[in-house]
Amino acid sequence: MRLSRSLVLCSMVGVLAACSSSSPTAVTPAPPVSTRFSIQVIFLSTPSAAFQLAMDSVVKRLTAIVTAGPAGYPISMSAADAASYTTTIRKTTANGGCGLGNATLPSGAYPGIVIFAQDTATLGSAQIIAQAGPCLVRTGGLPIVASMRFRTDYLAPLATNNQLVDVMTHEMLHTLGFNSTIFGTRPDSINPLITGAGTNTTAFRGSNAKIACLTFSPTVSATCSPTIPLENTGGSGTADDHWRESIFKTELMTGTIEARGVKMPLSAMTIGSLADMGYTVTASLAEPYTLPVGSSPLMNLLAGDAPANSGTPIPEIITRAVAVFRPGQKP
Ligand SMILES: [Zn+2]
Repeated sequence: MRLSRSLVLCSMVGVLAACSSSSPTAVTPAPPVSTRFSIQVIFLSTPSAAFQLAMDSVVKRLTAIVTAGPAGYPISMSAADAASYTTTIRKTTANGGCGLGNATLPSGAYPGIVIFAQDTATLGSAQIIAQAGPCLVRTGGLPIVASMRFRTDYLAPLATNNQLVDVMTHEMLHTLGFNSTIFGTRPDSINPLITGAGTNTTAFRGSNAKIACLTFSPTVSATCSPTIPLENTGGSGTADDHWRESIFKTELMTGTIEARGVKMPLSAMTIGSLADMGYTVTASLAEPYTLPVGSSPLMNLLAGDAPANSGTPIPEIITRAVAVFRPGQKP
């Protein structure tokens, strides 16, 4: 491709001047910046083979689903910006910060997201098995840089249960924007994707997710319309950041993990939520999903089901962005 483009340039210039392949002033055109969404994983320490393999699978899975960001999404980070924002993402602050102590941001094009990943012996609390979320966002809220950390000793049991890729996909979706902070900034903070955050009626307002939800069987329009219920239990890190477990149960982006052998589908509703955030998505890659019997709070009560979490909560921490990237400016 580069060769043919050079030849075209040469033939055009040749109208005005002789075109010589030996010209010392010939300039090779810069390769075009890709607009295809990419997920670049940078390991903070040497990963175990299982962790690296699972990360590769999850990157492939989600870059097939998310193919592009909104218009103007690719940005370029200068060497000076990379150095400046590296200082910011390394900091640990009173409310957590990013704490990416040995991370170094690459300069150059960012057509997607850079995720610093690590499997580690401890995540600060014995109960926590994963920590994930954005660290640095674009103007408008979508992430540029994120982190994903996993407890090493949970990788093997999750793999044995055939759940490792699903749980890591869940965490990577948090880094791409499936979290209440980004729901609150997209498409803008005046008309955000989340309503009622922090209350019993917390819900997602995105139209693509709603349309997908309304196609689920059995059809219970009150479940999806006018808004889709988000989790209203479990406190910070669970509430507002997931679909409501009492309604959507097995769906991948509820806050709980299912029993071994129970499929956790990445449904059209979750892919729709990515479209609502502004991503271009491949809707056909949604996994089959049906609403459980008793798929509204009222029906749950009628079915004798407790309207609360019925799975095991995923012990996770969701990190929040510490800065908005503004080229040429200090964080
Ligand atoms: Zn989660």
